[in-house]
Amino acid sequence: MKIKIDFSPLKKEGPPIIIVGAVQESEAVANVCREKGIKVSAVCDSEPRRSQETLSELKIIHSPTLPKKFPKARFIIGCQHVQDVVEQLTGYGYDEFYSPLGLLENYNIKKFEHSVSHSYMEKRLDVCRKTHKAFFNQEKIYMRSIDIMVTTKCSLKCNNCSNLMQYYKNPEHTDHEKILDALKVIDANVDEISEFRLIGGEPLMNKGWADIVKGISERHNQCQIFIYTNGTIAPKEDQLKSFNVKNVNFIITDYGKLSANADKMTELLIKNNISYDRSPAQDWVDCSSVKQHKRSVKDNEEVFKQCCVKYLYTLLEGKLYRCPFIANAANLKAIPDNPANYVDLFSNSDDVKKKIKRMVKNSTFFPGCDFCLGRPYDPTNNLGYDGKGMIPAGQQVSESIPYKVYE
Ligand code: SF4
Ligand code: SF4
Repeated sequence: MKIKIDFSPLKKEGPPIIIVGAVQESEAVANVCREKGIKVSAVCDSEPRRSQETLSELKIIHSPTLPKKFPKARFIIGCQHVQDVVEQLTGYGYDEFYSPLGLLENYNIKKFEHSVSHSYMEKRLDVCRKTHKAFFNQEKIYMRSIDIMVTTKCSLKCNNCSNLMQYYKNPEHTDHEKILDALKVIDANVDEISEFRLIGGEPLMNKGWADIVKGISERHNQCQIFIYTNGTIAPKEDQLKSFNVKNVNFIITDYGKLSANADKMTELLIKNNISYDRSPAQDWVDCSSVKQHKRSVKDNEEVFKQCCVKYLYTLLEGKLYRCPFIANAANLKAIPDNPANYVDLFSNSDDVKKKIKRMVKNSTFFPGCDFCLGRPYDPTNNLGYDGKGMIPAGQQVSESIPYKVYE
């Protein structure tokens, strides 16, 4: 399927123009279209809740309803899951797709209003451009982001944590030097990574978190580092001052009263000129049970195809996985140990690069997917999904939850 970079046909009369993905980057795409006289009719997104909202004054349409409303349409792909989007929309019978690369080439952030700060939007667009460029170079080993699990300890205990923290009886921090050593192996074998994300558990519980950030920042000063926190622990000011603030960002999920230090954290970030996004926790998709399905190959392929987190490369205890579910289910030993689920970065094998490439290019499924409920873009549709759908976020349990171990 050809995706066009030249956007000049969009200036001509033709089928309605839709921006794909109700993501922050699409605001920039909408702005530049207005400026260039390209008339956009709507934004589409697979997440049904987004259809209650608008983006840059454009109506958001739930993607599966597109064919009814727009039998013909042209699409500008604003989001970063290019391959998935094209497959989904081709399945609805559409065939005209545009990359945002040409449109965003000389985008002047300061000229426009956005729902996030200029510095934050600049970083989103930087990652967006790199992801779309990588799409046109399939030989490259590219990771849009890598989730670095710095701890399995969390200051909250959410019943339905999609990273499976609720099952850890003896959660642990990973030593910061082990993490930086593993990242060296990844650096040597991956062509490009746009975004490093510190996650957990609660990453700020690991006292080495700032050293990990500094270690990544020194080696990758062109990449963005995002620290995902639940707002329960305020960082120390001297830690914040020690960063190269240009590439360090915080993402605060606000769980209301549970996020007792979110205000203090926000004040400190503003004071130290560190970019951040703070958003209330929204309902989650039920996806945190480990259960063997014994699906057919075809059904597991469908689960993987529908999955919205299949590019969330996850580093945990020296192993690289394709998603946080498999990483934690394997780390908990809840699923059978299967080397097809991961790359052991400390294996001293001379084909680590080959193994990483195989993992990155895998477009079928992993053995671990058979133990997953699925995590579809659209949980209202049972296609490739065996969970309950939307559930309330952040409900707490007092004890770790027992789980079945599959041998
Ligand atoms: S805050 Fe809740 S969802 Fe986030 S990592 Fe901790 S347990 Fe999981
Ligand atoms: S196990 Fe497979 S289906 Fe489940 S989240 Fe990971 S990649 Fe997606």
